[in-house]
Amino acid sequence: MQKIRIRAHAKINLYLDVVGKREDGYHNLETIFHSIGLHDDVIIRKQDPKEITVHCEHPAVPCDSRNLAHQAAQFLNDAVGGIGGISIEIQKRIPVAAGLAGGSANAAAVLYGVNELFRLGFTQETLRRFGAQLGADVPFCLHGGAAFGTGIGDELTRLPAFSDLPLLLLNPGIKISTAAVFKKLNFSLTKRENAGIIIRTHIEKRDALGIGEGLYNLLEVPVFAEYPEIAALKTELSTQAGCCGALMSGSGATLFALMQDSESARRSESHFKNRVNFCTTTVTSPVGVYIED
Ligand code: ATP
Repeated sequence: MQKIRIRAHAKINLYLDVVGKREDGYHNLETIFHSIGLHDDVIIRKQDPKEITVHCEHPAVPCDSRNLAHQAAQFLNDAVGGIGGISIEIQKRIPVAAGLAGGSANAAAVLYGVNELFRLGFTQETLRRFGAQLGADVPFCLHGGAAFGTGIGDELTRLPAFSDLPLLLLNPGIKISTAAVFKKLNFSLTKRENAGIIIRTHIEKRDALGIGEGLYNLLEVPVFAEYPEIAALKTELSTQAGCCGALMSGSGATLFALMQDSESARRSESHFKNRVNFCTTTVTSPVGVYIED
């Protein structure tokens, strides 16, 4: 096998609370992740020159060692003491710096794909451990489906995935720095006993309306304070016909809405399409990384 093509799925957070600050400067979270159908394609090829190269046409994505996919390949190369040449092509569809974990999904695809292509034999658990060293969302992107995340989001407990739930995604085109959001956060405000457990129960019961009512993301507070236009967009999204609930994903600025059916998702898509930077319908997905061929 000379190449492998991996679908690298984005994620949304159905719930995100910050429960403490750590000595290393990061924050401890309680979050519920779900993979979604929106994905990048990551094509990994063996190549003769013993180097790692990344190609991506998206202007905001660096192709050098700042790229998380590059870092993932380098990590595996170092872990086994040299693999050989690896070329990585990223076909980007996931909006960049948008709270959908696009970079982490690409890194997860490379860990998974390189392990398969070069028959390295690492277990999924080991790959997730490697992933945690590359970024907090990488372990979930490898895990896929639905999970409850604690620690910095890297300690995962599997939840039953609620696949094919129609979604509408909106990105207003405002780039938000995750670090800046956490800096502005007053997390002493947070005391949401059992809220995470309640939404988990709704996922288990496949109750979209219940999930919609339980959607929560503490990071909306600092982001909406700085960008009231994102708050206004969320209000408009929430009042669309067929919307079970809307929320900002991760540190934003992407908003998503859980929709009752794909028809209402499509109707709302036409309502927003020409007014925002990025707008698409998708569904919740049971997988995070997937071999296409
Ligand atoms: P998260 O939800 O994990 O916080 P995000 O979706 O907000 O992530 P990314 O799309 O991963 O953010 O991009 C964050 C930054 O990482 C970008 O500004 C980009 O320059 C850099 N980056 C590095 N590698 C990649 C990659 N493979 N794809 C996209 N961005 C990348």
